[in-house]
Amino acid sequence: MQPLALYIHWPFCLAKCPYCDFNSHVRAHIPQARFAAALRRELAWEAARLGQRRLTSIFFGGGTPSLMEPDTVAALIADATSLFTPTPDLEITLEANPTSVELGKLTLFRQAGVNRLSLGVQALEDAALRDLGREHSARQAMAALEHARAIFPRLSFDLIYARPGQTLAAWRAELSRALALAADHLSLYQLTIEPGTAFEARHRSGALVLPDEDLAADLYDATAELAAAFGLHAYEISNYAKRGAESRHNLAYWRYGEYAGIGPGAHGRVNLGGELVATRRHRAPEPWAERVERDGHGSTAEEIIAPRDRAREALLMGLRLNEGVEIAQFERRTGVAMDKALDRETLSAAVEEGYVTRSATHLTATLAGRRLLDALLARLVA
Ligand code: SF4
Repeated sequence: MQPLALYIHWPFCLAKCPYCDFNSHVRAHIPQARFAAALRRELAWEAARLGQRRLTSIFFGGGTPSLMEPDTVAALIADATSLFTPTPDLEITLEANPTSVELGKLTLFRQAGVNRLSLGVQALEDAALRDLGREHSARQAMAALEHARAIFPRLSFDLIYARPGQTLAAWRAELSRALALAADHLSLYQLTIEPGTAFEARHRSGALVLPDEDLAADLYDATAELAAAFGLHAYEISNYAKRGAESRHNLAYWRYGEYAGIGPGAHGRVNLGGELVATRRHRAPEPWAERVERDGHGSTAEEIIAPRDRAREALLMGLRLNEGVEIAQFERRTGVAMDKALDRETLSAAVEEGYVTRSATHLTATLAGRRLLDALLARLVA
């Protein structure tokens, strides 16, 4: 039976963060019952067309899925584990923010079956949290981590660095404080300016200035060095974990495994009728719900992914990983021979210049290569 990772999107947040381009929406009143019913209906529709799969992970992302009612989470887990065949070590992650509204529900999420919590801490300094538009303080974040650690067997949290005005010394001190909190997994993202966000307008007007490239590179190196000193290895460009605590769900994306996406704006890569199909759901929450109520699903255009595009996607995802791309698995999944997928001249130059290594079994980007991954891939993929 083929393995499957399941993503469930909850599109609502308490407020819109100024840097965020996720599919997240603020509503005076969240229509809980309507969205719970629609998610369950769309999950049943997707399962009916996929048939049996070995369910390896469920990921509740958003938005802010900790704003869901715990009963909805429990019902979706019960549905997913009866529609598919769960593995004994099924990983069930829920993203949460460290506000008091959500923290009061953590025990109920655990009872619902969630076994891994991912906390959106983002910073451990109050001024930075205010600038990022977050609804919590550093003290609340620390308390939330403490509380979550006592409830969940696995705990991850996110921090954003390369923030305006951030120095190397300040980031080292903040990250050390974070690492001492002993989560088994950290996602450490460099602040980027995304189109259409409030930060983009401020950046364009010159009111928001990011650290220059050299400082950003120093911050990245310090991040990897400090994480390693605390026993967390960099297994992906922005993700650090103790051995065995890597996110199995995200590994399914990076290893180009099969995943289904349920909920507004969710994407999937599923095998249907012998083809690999890209799936996408209607992005706006209420129109998505209307479609599910009418048709049983909120799917928009779906397309079969051609072999060349499969190869490009698999390399784009796989070269983010420290382990690189396993050549045999790549060829099985994409139907393209690795040699045919790569531009021969660029590959030799990239190997010679130390950006890429190629063994009999793996194609891997080095640390220097991962730093320039977008530019490298644009030339490397034939
Ligand atoms: S809480 Fe997360 S998803 Fe919601 S607006 Fe902020 S960054 Fe975006």
